[in-house]
Amino acid sequence: MNLEKYRAVIGLEVHAQLDTRAKFFCPEAVVYGAEPNTCISPVSLGYPGALPSINAACIDLAIKMGLATDCQIAESCHFARKNYFYPDLPKGYQITQDQTPICFGGKLEIRLKNGETKTIGITRIHLEEDAGKSLHDQDPFDTLVDLNRAGVGLIEIVSEPDIACAEEAAAYLTEIRKLVRYLGVCDGNMEEGSLRCDANISVMLKDATEFGTRVEVKNMNSISNVARAINYEIERQIQIVESGGKVQKETRTWDAATGKTFSMRDKESAADYRYFPEPDLQPLRISQKQIESIRAATPELPESRYRRYVGEWGLTDFDATVITERREFSDYFEAATLSGANKKAVANWMTGVVRAYLNETATDVAAFPIAPQTLGKVVEMVESGKINLNTAKEKLFVHLLERPDDDPEAVAVANDWLSVRDPEAERAQVRAVLDAHAEKVQQYRNGKTGLLGFFVGQAMKNLGAKADPKEINRIVTELLQS
Ligand code: ADP
Ligand code: MG
Repeated sequence: MNLEKYRAVIGLEVHAQLDTRAKFFCPEAVVYGAEPNTCISPVSLGYPGALPSINAACIDLAIKMGLATDCQIAESCHFARKNYFYPDLPKGYQITQDQTPICFGGKLEIRLKNGETKTIGITRIHLEEDAGKSLHDQDPFDTLVDLNRAGVGLIEIVSEPDIACAEEAAAYLTEIRKLVRYLGVCDGNMEEGSLRCDANISVMLKDATEFGTRVEVKNMNSISNVARAINYEIERQIQIVESGGKVQKETRTWDAATGKTFSMRDKESAADYRYFPEPDLQPLRISQKQIESIRAATPELPESRYRRYVGEWGLTDFDATVITERREFSDYFEAATLSGANKKAVANWMTGVVRAYLNETATDVAAFPIAPQTLGKVVEMVESGKINLNTAKEKLFVHLLERPDDDPEAVAVANDWLSVRDPEAERAQVRAVLDAHAEKVQQYRNGKTGLLGFFVGQAMKNLGAKADPKEINRIVTELLQS
C-alpha cells in the first residue's frame, strides 16, 4: 500500500459537559454515578406543557471557552430543535444551536513533538443539551434507559478540517482538555464521558484539490484511542481507494478491544433532523459588558504560562509541559517559587518527587500535604548547600509528607541532616580521588569531560551523605583545571 501518495484530512467535534450545578433548562443537579433516574424533572423528562428556562451559567461558560480560543462571540443567537427519535431522548428533540452558534471563527495553537506549533481553526462552539444514556449491559434481555444525563448543558467545539494526522489530533484534544479544566468549563474526564470526541476523517491524493468523503468515528473514550481510531481509519480508507472502491459517508464506532472501527449507520444529513427555531426560548442577547466581565474573570491560560516558563523562567519544554498540564499543579509551582527559590530547581522537584508522589498515591495536588512555601524552603536549603539533595529528597521530604507543619530547617537540625562543611577535608578527599585515578584525569583533560561525575561520586562516597555535592563538584572542577 502506498501511503505516501495520500494525505489525511481530519476535523474534530468535541462535546464538553458544562460544570454547572443545574442542568441547562431545568434546575436539578446531576451527580456522576447517582442512582439511575434520580436526577430528573418534568422538563428533562419532556412532559407535555413543561417549559425550559435558561441556566445563565451555561452561557457564561460557553463564552469563556470562546474567548480562550479567540472566537468571535455572537451578539445575538437562538436555540433550535434538532428532531430525532431515540429512547434516551424523551422529548423527541434536542435543544441545540443550528444557524447561530454562540461562538465562531476561533483558533487554537497546538505544540507537536518536534517542537513545532500549528494553528487549528475552530469553526464554531455551540450550546446544546445532552441526551440520556441507553444501558445495554445491565439486563440480559432489555436495554435500560437512564435519564440523569438528559438536559445537562454541553458545548460542542467544532474544528476546521485542519488536522493532518493522529498526533495532531491528540495534541489538539490535549490542549482542549487543558483549557476546559483551567477555565472550570468541564472536568475533562473522557473515561466518564464528560469530554467526548467524534473524529471526521477522509483521505485524498496529495495533489488532489477536493477533499475525500468523510467518515465520522464515535465512541473513543481516551485521547490515545482517538489517535488509534484515526490511524486505523486512514489505512482502511486508503485501502478502499487503492483497490478502486469508494469510501461511504457514514458513522462508524470505535472498538478499543479489536482496534477497529465498525459501521453504525448512514450519516444523517441536516434535512433528517428538521431543524427549526425553538419556540419556547427567547433569542439570547449577549452584551459587550457581559463579555468583558467574563474576560476579566478568566485566569491566565496554560499556553501563556508555558511561554512564560520557557521564555522568562528558563524551564525546559518538558518541565513547562508537565507543570502547565493542570492549573492547580501550575499554581502550586508558582506559589513555591514566590519566596525566591530557584525556579528551575523548584520545577525539578515538581516534575520529579512531587509528581511521583501524586501518581503513586493517586492524590490530587489539592490534597498534597506539603504547603508550597514549605517546599520552596526545602529547595532553598538545597540550593544554598545547607542540605544535600539526596538527604532532602529521601529524608526531609518524606518527613514533611508525614508532618507537613514542621519547619524544614528545624527538622533537619533536629535530625542532624544538615551538610557539614569542612573545606579542608573536602579538598584533601578530592585530591586523593584525583591522585588515585591519574589515568582518568588524563582522559578528562583530553576531552572526556563526562568523567567529572565519576570524580564527584568517588569523593562523595568517601565523605558521606552530609557533604554537599555541588560544593564537591566545584572543588573537583577547580582542581582539574589547576
Ligand atoms: P456534522 O454534525 O454533520 O458532523 P459538523 O459541522 O458538526 O457536521 O462537523 C463536521 C466536522 O467534519 C468538522 O469538524 C469539519 O472540520 C470536518 N470535516 C468536514 N469535511 C471534512 C472532510 N472532507 N474530511 C474530514 N473532516 C471533514
Ligand atoms: Mg458530527
